[in-house]
Amino acid sequence: MGVMRPVIITANWKMNTSPADAGPLAADIAKATDVAGVTRIICPPYVALAPVKDALAGTDVAVGAQNVHAEAKGAYTGEISASMLAGLVSWCIVGHSERRRDQFESDALIGAKIVRLVEAGISPMLCCGEQLDEREAGSAVETVQAQVRAALDVVMASGQGLPSDLVIAYEPVWAIGTGRTASGADAAEMADAIRATVAGIAGAEFAEAMPVLYGGSVTADSFGEFINEPAIDGALIGGASLKPDQMAGIAATAAEAAAGRAGA
Ligand code: PEP
Repeated sequence: MGVMRPVIITANWKMNTSPADAGPLAADIAKATDVAGVTRIICPPYVALAPVKDALAGTDVAVGAQNVHAEAKGAYTGEISASMLAGLVSWCIVGHSERRRDQFESDALIGAKIVRLVEAGISPMLCCGEQLDEREAGSAVETVQAQVRAALDVVMASGQGLPSDLVIAYEPVWAIGTGRTASGADAAEMADAIRATVAGIAGAEFAEAMPVLYGGSVTADSFGEFINEPAIDGALIGGASLKPDQMAGIAATAAEAAAGRAGA
């Protein structure tokens, strides 16, 4: 039997919710998703981290941030460092395609963010994914492998080695917020390609133990197609993650998959 990876569902609330309504929403989602064998993470906006952390006290739902700055501290007006997040979050998303698009984040910058997170004891969730024209041109795998390699090379160059809690979320850009999803088979092929790249950097054992999530218009209806692929270990969920009933459906499917994997 191979290594047992955790099944993980992560809510990315993006620029939604307020400090006042985020806590009650997090509590509702925690209740709706209280299933066995599934790691749950909620990533609210920065200003809602503290109320969400308070609302989730006494549950095993983890709190994550959606971004972090690549420098440890200094004259970076309006930015948030990893050490500021320590104590508030246990996870942080880096390299989301909306930040690559809007803030022009490079793979090297994203790698530097992972270094800062590791220093602060925060688990990194690295996002990667191809554009539609890259998929249509047949270069999706090559594109995603290059993204992962370039970011993780920076981590290796720091002398840290890859963090054992690293999670990679494969999110085809054309599937985010569009209602379109990749096929389960395409997502699984990409998860294998990501692990092959990581194996080349940190060894096959590390890559085999590393969770790979799918993201891109995941709903309670579509999640089964992904989690039924043995190479996929869960989802990063945007739009549907603001809806407790959707999250309940996703968590129920995740729990079935986790039970199946544990018994396999
Ligand atoms: C995301 O924010 O990472 C995401 C996948 O969004 P959505 O589920 O809305 O496509």
